[in-house]
Amino acid sequence: MRIAILALQGAFIEHAQMLHELGVETFEVRQLQDWQQPKDGLIIPGGESTTQVRLLDRLGLLQPIRQAILEGLPVFGTCAGLILLAKQEDGHSRKGLCTMDIDVCRNAYGRQLGSFNAVGDVVGIAKDFPMTYIRAPYIHRTISPDVKILSTINGHIVAVQQGRQFATAFHPELTSNNELHHYFIQQVIPSRA
Ligand code: GLN
Repeated sequence: MRIAILALQGAFIEHAQMLHELGVETFEVRQLQDWQQPKDGLIIPGGESTTQVRLLDRLGLLQPIRQAILEGLPVFGTCAGLILLAKQEDGHSRKGLCTMDIDVCRNAYGRQLGSFNAVGDVVGIAKDFPMTYIRAPYIHRTISPDVKILSTINGHIVAVQQGRQFATAFHPELTSNNELHHYFIQQVIPSRA
């Protein structure tokens, strides 16, 4: 198994380390040539979503990645990665990959209060999972019944799955718990067959 990790900006190294611990090979995507390598899945890391979208667009990666996800490539987006996947922001369409039927709120907890830790269950995947939030988004609402809500913290949706698209508002790669990465490679990717 070989997983592509979008490495334009943000916390991508930690995702690679976590996957290596699980015995999974990864490669970084920085340009179109990298993207053209064979892959079983994609990770979109946290960082700054506006910058990531701008870079994806400039490098000609936005449409090919969007197309691959729509054709069923398994994807795991964390924090800014979740924002990139969202079709809507505050009820309006947004620029990004726009493949997931969710409406996000960016910097949802205020600029100063945006970073905190919580512990929560991720339905059917992990109990008492340590959740690191860094200027995090949350999901206002799902906009299709195809989206499964996997976790809610203080009444806000923070983890979802829609088919082979899996996304969290928090950063599982910044903890020592690899249960969500394990779920991605064991459950989300094999569902492709
Ligand atoms: N606030 C960032 C954004 O809107 C996301 C933060 C993160 O990925 N840790 O893009």
